[in-house]
Amino acid sequence: MIHLKNVTKLYQKNGVVALDDVNLDIAAGEFVFIVGTSGSGKSTLMKLLMHEETPTMGEIFVNGRDVVRLQRKEIPYLRREFGVIFQDFRLLEDKTVYENVAFAMQVIETPRKIIQRSVDAVLDIVGLREKSKHFPDQLSGGEQQRVAIARAIVNDPKLVIADEPTGNLDPATTWDIMDIFKRINDAGTTIIMTTHDRDIVNRMKRRVVEIEGGKIVRDQQRGRY
Ligand code: ADP
Repeated sequence: MIHLKNVTKLYQKNGVVALDDVNLDIAAGEFVFIVGTSGSGKSTLMKLLMHEETPTMGEIFVNGRDVVRLQRKEIPYLRREFGVIFQDFRLLEDKTVYENVAFAMQVIETPRKIIQRSVDAVLDIVGLREKSKHFPDQLSGGEQQRVAIARAIVNDPKLVIADEPTGNLDPATTWDIMDIFKRINDAGTTIIMTTHDRDIVNRMKRRVVEIEGGKIVRDQQRGRY
């Protein structure tokens, strides 16, 4: 599913080596936590996977696609293959819950009937069907993140990339959100998640990859924070 070989990322403008000769393989269906102190390189790794940054050296394959040598015309296809979720939700404030989720399908020109069926189905998964006409500012933080999750999975991606998805949520809401991620993973979707939350990592008992100073310093199955 994901293959990184000798990946180095040097930010030219300040000379920072954010990732230093990283090798990492993630199989389809895994649930992987990426942990490490602030500035260790976690976000850079996520951005490389999303094709938001390109590596200075090395190879990156996501779902069999060479992300480094990606042709411009392939980018929409890559975007369809994974869903992304951020700490700050990033919903469109002037669109309803339904429209926020539908939008991810409209941009890839999905027929309207299919959009309706798919949006209803994912809103059921995250438990927000009855709030489909609400706007983001009428929802709690946890509900907003559930909308973001619905949007991330509506195109049925094989991979979900979540960068600190519970960073703005209280502990009870955090567990509601983690339950949804668990269910998505149980249905076969690969999940890569960065987090600072010890409790989540320790209770979930999944693979833990720790980054320090741009290098992988630990890679453990059923790991702890
Ligand atoms: P983390 O997500 O673990 O906090 P980052 O990947 O954001 O770490 O950052 C790793 C290092 O790269 C840090 O030293 C940071 O200052 C630097 N860095 C991150 N993004 C940029 C950027 N766009 N330009 C220059 N330096 C960056």
